[in-house]
Amino acid sequence: MTDRLLRTATRTHSFSESVIREMTRVAREHDAINLAQGFPDFPAPQLLKDAACAAIQGDVNQYAITWGTANLRNALSEKYAAMYDLEFDPEREITVTCGATEAMAAVMLATIDPGEEVIVFEPFYENYGPDAVLSQASPVFLPLEAPDYRVERDRLEAVVTPKTRAIVVNTPNNPTGRVFDRDELQAIADICREYDILAITDEIYEHIYYESEHLVLAGFEGMRDRTITVSGLSKTFSVTGWRVGTVMAPPHLTDAIRKVHDFLTVGAPAPLQEACAVGLRELGQDYYTQMVERYKERRGVLLSALQAAGFGCTTPQGAYYVLADFSGMSDEDDTTFAKRLTSEGGVAPVPGSSFYSTPEGGRSVVRFVFCKRLETLHAAAERLRAFSVSG
Ligand code: GLN
Repeated sequence: MTDRLLRTATRTHSFSESVIREMTRVAREHDAINLAQGFPDFPAPQLLKDAACAAIQGDVNQYAITWGTANLRNALSEKYAAMYDLEFDPEREITVTCGATEAMAAVMLATIDPGEEVIVFEPFYENYGPDAVLSQASPVFLPLEAPDYRVERDRLEAVVTPKTRAIVVNTPNNPTGRVFDRDELQAIADICREYDILAITDEIYEHIYYESEHLVLAGFEGMRDRTITVSGLSKTFSVTGWRVGTVMAPPHLTDAIRKVHDFLTVGAPAPLQEACAVGLRELGQDYYTQMVERYKERRGVLLSALQAAGFGCTTPQGAYYVLADFSGMSDEDDTTFAKRLTSEGGVAPVPGSSFYSTPEGGRSVVRFVFCKRLETLHAAAERLRAFSVSG
């Protein structure tokens, strides 16, 4: 083959394939328990599955309106008003996408010009770097210090430049488990307003928080018109394979986001959007409360197992991940350790460096998920114990 045929676009060269999904493949190869990729191994709510089947049987099988079925956009608008006291016009301010993943990419493509900067707190969910690169923007990584991972106003202000276009705010956070408090979000809001910057939030874990409450940045004074709120139903309803994401944004931004979304994917699956609308209307606060109680119990099981095996970790305040420090157990780098734990220990985590801009950043940490059945977590605990004993 000629060089020309072998060539791929330069924009793909600066990032690799998803390490999270790679670890899922490695887990399968070794028949390991997959505590790498964040998806539940328990069933989705029956009501939701019935609603999806009913929609398919009812012949809701063609394209929905590209920016989302009216039914789902209306249900979302009702939810944001009731829960967060925020009014979003379903006709002009809400877009349904193929997961929060597409939402983040579409939002960046629609709002950031080449050469502009996007501030990303580090450690970060691995998509934000490539999303910025695909938009030809420059990600500017701002390290948050373990174990608290707090946002400090002065440090944030120090990385703002005239080119800064947006700040990505993921709370509850993957991978740290932090839920940003009012002071931290106020600091972000102040900087956004003072320097005329957009906030792009990733609130996919909005209903999964434990001791500290999730606050919506769009609800802070002066933020309604400069915040793009990304979320989705994957984690809330345990349907990560459905790919139903959501974007709430002021009308002029929504217009641009809808255009990009239309040409990227046309739309999210129509019958599944109908089912999510049913879920939003019928599974209310009781469902969220129960879900959180279950995750709390799972969090406890995983934390004890990790601590007993010799990992250093702090208790996540939200989402369903634990970043665990293995420096007391091994001198290996994170990738070597993660692969050995998978192949020899039979439990797969994600290497910490996936969440940092440089390999040194996450060299001695790995990430485990606890969105799994208690049996799965107990089995993983047993394997972690045996692995720690065998050295
Ligand atoms: N958000 C999940 C995680 O961090 C799943 C990632 C993915 O594969 N899309 O593991």
